[in-house]
Amino acid sequence: MTRKTLELSVALFMLITGVILTSAVPGIRFGSRGSVPVYSSYVRGHDQMNNNGMASHSAKVGDDRVKLEEQPGVNCKVPHAPGATYVIYINWDGFAYRYYEWANSPSGPGTPVLNYLASRGALFTDAHNGFPGTTVPMQTSIVTGAWPAVHGNTHLYYDPLENVVKQMNRENPSETIAEVVAKSGLSSASVQQFALEGRGTWVDDPRHLYVQPSGSWHNRVAEAIKILKQEGVKTGDGQRVIVPEIPRFLAIYADDLDATGHNPGISYGFSLALNYEAWKANLIRKLVYMDSGLGLLVDALSDLGILDQTAIILTSDHGMSHFKGETSLPDVLETLGALGYTAEILSAGEKASPRTDIVLVGGDLSLQFYFRWDVTVREYNEIVEALQGKPYFGGYMSLHELAKAGAHPNLGSLVIWAEPPYHFGPSDLLLRVGGQHNSGDRSSRQVFMLLSGAGIRQGIVVDKPAAIIDVAPTISHLLGVRQPSDSMGRVLEEAIAAH
Ligand SMILES: [Zn+2]
Repeated sequence: MTRKTLELSVALFMLITGVILTSAVPGIRFGSRGSVPVYSSYVRGHDQMNNNGMASHSAKVGDDRVKLEEQPGVNCKVPHAPGATYVIYINWDGFAYRYYEWANSPSGPGTPVLNYLASRGALFTDAHNGFPGTTVPMQTSIVTGAWPAVHGNTHLYYDPLENVVKQMNRENPSETIAEVVAKSGLSSASVQQFALEGRGTWVDDPRHLYVQPSGSWHNRVAEAIKILKQEGVKTGDGQRVIVPEIPRFLAIYADDLDATGHNPGISYGFSLALNYEAWKANLIRKLVYMDSGLGLLVDALSDLGILDQTAIILTSDHGMSHFKGETSLPDVLETLGALGYTAEILSAGEKASPRTDIVLVGGDLSLQFYFRWDVTVREYNEIVEALQGKPYFGGYMSLHELAKAGAHPNLGSLVIWAEPPYHFGPSDLLLRVGGQHNSGDRSSRQVFMLLSGAGIRQGIVVDKPAAIIDVAPTISHLLGVRQPSDSMGRVLEEAIAAH
């Protein structure tokens, strides 16, 4: 499909969906603008952050007595009467909250389906992820309700004992929400939500089915609709399977927005963005496309007569920060050198040389620091202060703050991140704009989060901070099953309707 045809289809679809849904649900305004709250300011630094993972700033090196913050609110692990017969958990990888603001700005195209769901639910304007802000650790946090400190998946880290940088895959010893659903006797399915593959959904279990259709969001929505309508779907080994009932819990994962945000080249039909404005325009267009596919899902639920019994939860693992220009990595190494330290950045599988004092891991937007001697508070602060004065310095998390944020100790003793559009990439980025999300910057940390439908309060905007680890316990609450055994999130009570 050419881009023009696609645009026309999307526009036509939006028009049709708008008419259908508006006529079906009187009083719902589509693409209503000006209702999306805009952040008055975001101050670099630490003191303004709070809530599980955004700690205040009084760190001491080696203070390992820090405990993870207790979660306020209801945290009971016992089942409730279900608030929803069906729960659909949708994850749009790399869906920064600000994309939604951009699309719904006065000059934006609007997102009629998301806005419709928001009118029937709760939109969270301050939902955040944890550390590291990379896909597998954060997708794991969503489905387990636990931060990496507990489930252990921290992506990339330096192992001082073996003197090597290690990269993790999908290791996760913590129970997933899909495993709870299965153990509770409820049916489920996962459309490419890989964090649930073999972890509560399986390719060979029609009652707890895992399918991986690949391709675009629309392709995956089509597969999800087949499952909901109990039509045949193909599993990984080519078998045709029909689910025995409409799954009580359905997870759908799509990475279209993430691919557009990374902007590595041609992806899903969108062209390479050479500057920030073009990048932003691509993301808005992609979000409109995602929105139209969501409309097909809502229509299918309506056709089946289960829309009012279904809760839809849509969130993401991380946002996305743009970067461009010369890399600031050489200056970091020089700055550490001027303080008398030899630092080197290592990739997966690489070993530090014997004379290296500081091992750096990461790159692109953040650097994890591993000190190869017993660093004192004075030395630690000196390093932070030297870097803090740099224009590229976006912020940092000390060991203490990382622990409070639920980061795994393997993540290092210090994490710094770049102020957009600066970066710590291996080379300069001069011809295009890049996107990454392993950053503490708000653009990477603030994710879209919407709860809508059965069991959810209608038409509320929640400014109170929420975390992605709150999703699993909230799903438990809605389905009336227990929480995953390692869950440390809270039920998002402020979004739950009285029943
Ligand atoms: Zn991701």
